[in-house]
Amino acid sequence: MANRYRIGLIDGDGIGPEIVPAAARVADQALAAVGREVDWVPLELGRTTIDKYGTAMPEATLAALDDLDLWILGPHDSASYPPEHRTGLTPGGVVRKRYDLYANIRPALAHDGVHATNPDLDLVIVRENSEGLYADRNMARGTGEFMPTPDVALSVGVITRAATRRIAVSAFELARSRRKHVTIVHKANVLSMTTGLFRDVCREVAEGYPDVRVDDEHVDAMAAHLVRRGGRFDVIVTENLFGDILSDLAAELAGSLGIAASINTSATKAMAQAAHGAAPDIAGRGVANPVGIIGSTAMLLEWQALRSDDMALRTAAENMRGAIGETLSAGVATADLGGTASTASFVEAVLGALEGPG
Ligand code: ATP
Ligand code: MG
Repeated sequence: MANRYRIGLIDGDGIGPEIVPAAARVADQALAAVGREVDWVPLELGRTTIDKYGTAMPEATLAALDDLDLWILGPHDSASYPPEHRTGLTPGGVVRKRYDLYANIRPALAHDGVHATNPDLDLVIVRENSEGLYADRNMARGTGEFMPTPDVALSVGVITRAATRRIAVSAFELARSRRKHVTIVHKANVLSMTTGLFRDVCREVAEGYPDVRVDDEHVDAMAAHLVRRGGRFDVIVTENLFGDILSDLAAELAGSLGIAASINTSATKAMAQAAHGAAPDIAGRGVANPVGIIGSTAMLLEWQALRSDDMALRTAAENMRGAIGETLSAGVATADLGGTASTASFVEAVLGALEGPG
């Protein structure tokens, strides 16, 4: 069994250089405790490479990612790029598409010590990441939208049997390691062909998982249920746009987008990426909340644990999450959560919690 792993490390823009190295430090310490090591591979993209090489997405970075299975992608602030670098896909979009990272796994978990609108929340949204209304992102303007006349805009939604099947399998496999309940979210009463196909293929996949309870909801009803009785849900599988919206809603109900983790995966590669953006308004001040990116890094290790059957990685991930939980419940919090801790002092507290009382 390997005891060393190579993981790409991409700081990104805004608060990225403050939080991404912090996540690597926490992972290093958690892994050392279980006899594992990481060879970090620093890579660049975004604002800094526009200034240095004239592109937000350097070929050298893509070539390096071709050879990696795991990486952490910091946030990017593509809205701030010069106009000629704002056409087409964002750097994150390029990477997601190039490696067909079709599954966006976004947990929403309430933490002790963080005020949550819905403190019962402990669910995971499994979002299809490659099609739906966000499909065809390789078209000229970077989206599947077009305007046949200046007064009419159209957008084409794409749902395929193959892409739905693979995301449904991800959801049902995940449910087996949790509370064995999957909710399929669609809008088949109106978008009956597209989201109807999504629902039907998910139900077909469900037949292979008789041990998992399955039900389904319309997306509008689902938004209401999340607010009122979100604690009832375990794994939610849905198409791209619905998943985008519901996962932000769920993250906020669980406390804050700033603490929400996520990974994007294919069958062979996984990318950790916090749910929040580059937060340019607070960048460079040392006050950013690193919880989202640390949690995403823990998910990355957990994904690799299953893939390489290396349970030490899972232990490290659990310890990372435990240390974050302990830090938050002790009342250490950054400003976005109403606290006074800096990024550095928060990370020191997490490293201390990882060491444990003994
Ligand atoms: P994007 O389009 O990249 O998703 P966004 O417009 O959604 O960006 P964010 O960058 O996520 O915006 O920032 C939204 C607000 O949340 C800002 O006020 C920002 O300061 C705050 N915020 C986001 N992430 C964090 C964090 N990790 N720590 C503290 N505050 C954060
Ligand atoms: Mg955002």
